Amino acid sequence: MQTIIDSHAHCGIQDNFFPQSFEDYLHQIQGSDISGVAVFSPVEEIYDRYDPFFQDNENWKKKRRQSNEYVLSLKGREIQVFPYFFIWNDFAVDQISSDFLGIKWHRHADEPEYNYDSEQCAQAIEFIRNRNMPVVLEEELSNTIRFIKELAVGARVIIPHLGALNGGYRSVKNSGLWELENVYTDTSLASRETIADYITNYGCGRIMFGSDFPFGHPKRELEKLRGMELSKEDFQSIAGQNIQDLLQEVRTR
Ligand SMILES: [Zn+2]
Repeated sequence: MQTIIDSHAHCGIQDNFFPQSFEDYLHQIQGSDISGVAVFSPVEEIYDRYDPFFQDNENWKKKRRQSNEYVLSLKGREIQVFPYFFIWNDFAVDQISSDFLGIKWHRHADEPEYNYDSEQCAQAIEFIRNRNMPVVLEEELSNTIRFIKELAVGARVIIPHLGALNGGYRSVKNSGLWELENVYTDTSLASRETIADYITNYGCGRIMFGSDFPFGHPKRELEKLRGMELSKEDFQSIAGQNIQDLLQEVRTR
């Protein structure tokens, strides 16, 4: 039997701009074969993305904590949930309990920046590397390159959307990042053409099915992949095996 795992979904109950609770997710995947999902918080629950001069405060720290706790609370639900910790500028590694299996690291060019030069950042990266947790890294291109090639050498990084929001698929390709053994990607919101180009050049070992729920529809994203006439083995790698292998190597203590 095929195992289908969605490796990219946002769920939360604080931000209601989209219906994006776990129940909403379950509703959307009804009738599909999706049996597992990697879940992290919605960006809106982590920092004020609309204010480039955003200063962190107690209120946001509380929001973040509650949001990450919600994700953690989804373990043991109707389908398998792989909780990821959404890390921000306070680098609160003390909150990353061993039940978290991955890290979400997110910023767009016009949003407040991570303190890449801080000691806490270096310590957080060290923590992540020791646990061997995959990092879903959405950042502008220069920071993506810096993160992978300088700050977090050897860490396993998933550049989501085939790089669409990390400077674009081609730019990431030109930077040589897709070639690296520790760099992975997910198919969420990417076109079939881009996915096909990636597979031709880099194979099926480091690309994973993802939906980017609530921005993408899990069933539609899965249909996209099914319509690509991949071999059975390749489909299985992308649809579930790769993310399972990746998470199996996380050191939980
Ligand atoms: Zn996303």
